[in-house]
Amino acid sequence: MPTEVQAAVRKVVSVNPATGEILRQFEPASEYQVRAATAMARAAQPAWNALGVPRRISTLRNFQRLLHERKCDVARVITTEAGKPLVEAMLTEVLVVLDAARFYIEHVYEFLREEPVPHGNLAMKTKTGRIEREPHGVIGIVSPWNYPFSIPATETLAALATGNAVVLKPSEFTSLAALELRSLLYAAGVPEDVFQVLLGEGPTGAALMHADIDKLVFTGSVPTGKRIAQAAAARLLPVVLELGGKDPMLVLDDADVDVAASGAVWGAFVNAGQACLSVERCYVHRSLYPQFLEACTRKAKKLRVGNGLNPETDIGPLIHERQLQNVEQHVEDARDRGARVLSGGVRLQDLGPNFYAPTVLADVTHEMRVMRDETFGPVLPVMPFDNDEEAVQLANDSDYGLGASIWTRNRARGEALAKRIQSGTVMVNDAVSCFGISEALHGGIKASGLGRTHGHFGLEEMVRVKYVDSDRLPALKKVWWYGYGASFSRQMEGFLDLMFARSWGQRVRGAMRSAGIIARKERI
Ligand code: NAD
Repeated sequence: MPTEVQAAVRKVVSVNPATGEILRQFEPASEYQVRAATAMARAAQPAWNALGVPRRISTLRNFQRLLHERKCDVARVITTEAGKPLVEAMLTEVLVVLDAARFYIEHVYEFLREEPVPHGNLAMKTKTGRIEREPHGVIGIVSPWNYPFSIPATETLAALATGNAVVLKPSEFTSLAALELRSLLYAAGVPEDVFQVLLGEGPTGAALMHADIDKLVFTGSVPTGKRIAQAAAARLLPVVLELGGKDPMLVLDDADVDVAASGAVWGAFVNAGQACLSVERCYVHRSLYPQFLEACTRKAKKLRVGNGLNPETDIGPLIHERQLQNVEQHVEDARDRGARVLSGGVRLQDLGPNFYAPTVLADVTHEMRVMRDETFGPVLPVMPFDNDEEAVQLANDSDYGLGASIWTRNRARGEALAKRIQSGTVMVNDAVSCFGISEALHGGIKASGLGRTHGHFGLEEMVRVKYVDSDRLPALKKVWWYGYGASFSRQMEGFLDLMFARSWGQRVRGAMRSAGIIARKERI
């Protein structure tokens, strides 16, 4: 199989990670095609915006209806190309997008409505102001392979709903999922130039970044994100960067061990561990440590690894050999430094090319790569702590800050601790799943990125805000215009006293000194 892939080295090759079968091959978009696509998007965007919110919402409704009708076909494409179990393709991809469409349909009208800005500056009281939200124009989207449908689709729907055109460069590993999105959007009535897909590897993404776009929404790894940030700085291109994570899970001394262990194995192994919001590190109060490890190991051993198209499968393959090697290196490094492997820790070659057994590691430390770098595989490393203070310190001892979870029977205690965690999201008594709440924001701090997608804040990223100031008295020369002099200085001094002096007496004297400021004759 590798020889077949190598022979098509210049092509974009879509491969089934469970079998190694080549599904389709595509020519990558050339730089010229990237420039042409953004030019067509630029030309088409004003008419799309001019359609207005009700017509755009109606297109989103069509899209939602079509996606619902084709849900099984779309899920099958995702599973065949990305490996995840069919039920996960339904839950974490199709459902997330159907609900995102619902959110935009319900909220974009209100979101784009002009927003009055009442103000308290007495000197400017003749002015009325408002905020207007306008589309950026052309949004470039560069997306990863791990959620090959829900990530580009939720970002695209937000951009389209707010009147932008979109040029999408999906991951080279998941072109087919992006083409599904394209065919649904076209069938729903989105004009072809308003949404375009450019297939290709990193250089195609880099070409898009340098083409005529107004903003880039990038989701991917930290190293690529840093390269994008540097290139964006050179041309002052606004970017959203949704990057990697190393999410901690804190199991407090009052947690339900069985529930927390079930949550831990799901959070660590969902999508074969290839999830940005995840359980990448697990910290357990020492009093629960042995029971928790025993429960996680027992549950991990029950999981069925296999082809995601089989409905009995819990965990599918990793996306490719490179990802599998990364996981192996993390586990080997942990083993070499003294971690105990309680389950897994091996490739499952008999199943196919990219399968790895769900792995539970005990007695890990922060010296191990598995606790510092993103593993992005089915590995649950567990470490004990002695008190909440130490748990918070361990959780925050990371370059990343995407998500986190806290497990406790006392919600108030969990929510109080959540305030102290350095991350974009904290869940109490669950992990990962808030990605499916369309009203919730998504995004990280520290190396996990900049900006937000999803919810109200995700919509804000898709628009420029403009302040429109309108003076109610057009015939009046403004008091602060030219015609300065000693008398205006005295009046200004008085006005400042009127507004800000601490004593009432001084304010009254200020009012008297500033009287006449409006009728000032010296104005030219
Ligand atoms: P990646 O950085 O290798 O690739 C992401 C995308 O960038 C791909 O489409 C790729 O072709 C493109 N790309 C590569 N080099 C480029 C360049 N120089 N200029 C422009 N585009 C370029 O990441 P990946 O392996 O596809 O995805 C996995 C990573 O994504 C993990 O780190 C994961 O945590 C992260 N991720 C983050 C989120 C989030 O919301 N924060 C969500 C999903 C995945």
